[in-house]
Amino acid sequence: MAQGEAWIDRAAACPYIARMAVRDILVIPDKRLRLKSAAVKSIDKPLRALVADMFETMYAAPGIGLAAIQIGVPQRVVTMDLAKKDEPKQPQVFINPEVVWKSPEVSTHEEGCLSIPEYFEEVERPQAVRVKYLDLDGKAHEVEANDLLATCLQHEIDHINGVLFIDHISKLKRDMVMKKFKKAAKQTGGSKSLAEDKEPSHHIG
Ligand SMILES: [Zn+2]
Repeated sequence: MAQGEAWIDRAAACPYIARMAVRDILVIPDKRLRLKSAAVKSIDKPLRALVADMFETMYAAPGIGLAAIQIGVPQRVVTMDLAKKDEPKQPQVFINPEVVWKSPEVSTHEEGCLSIPEYFEEVERPQAVRVKYLDLDGKAHEVEANDLLATCLQHEIDHINGVLFIDHISKLKRDMVMKKFKKAAKQTGGSKSLAEDKEPSHHIG
């Protein structure tokens, strides 16, 4: 949370903030969602601009997490804000996040994804994970995550590896979802908007 606040302060002082933009979120069956994203090599001005756009896009969706590949940028960058509606914003950035430990215990949570709009399914994952990552200053961190943070981090780290939450459900269900979205993509050319009154927590990212 602390590095998120620091980011906000710094961002407010930067001129590029004016160029922040809500970007289009890729939706299945877009093949770019299956790309394995590349590690970030330098934390520079373009990367900060990307992060700013990711927050704009994530908050507008609304979602609680977003991976850069979801706006078509195959870099290992994740934004997240797990604050509830009535709480102050808690923006968090994870650069080159990596799971270094998973608990043997598993838990099941309902997940949704901004790239698979309005589809929700129970997913079983390790209950806790330890994740190492860099912040926007290039400083290394390691966090032990439980509950929603654990689910969200695993969901987003999957994205940067080209994995979607529907890969963790039965093939029968996955095939049904893919079929539905392939059909919708043919009809609309791929774009699909979300209902405006969705609770952010429903779409993990
Ligand atoms: Zn997602």
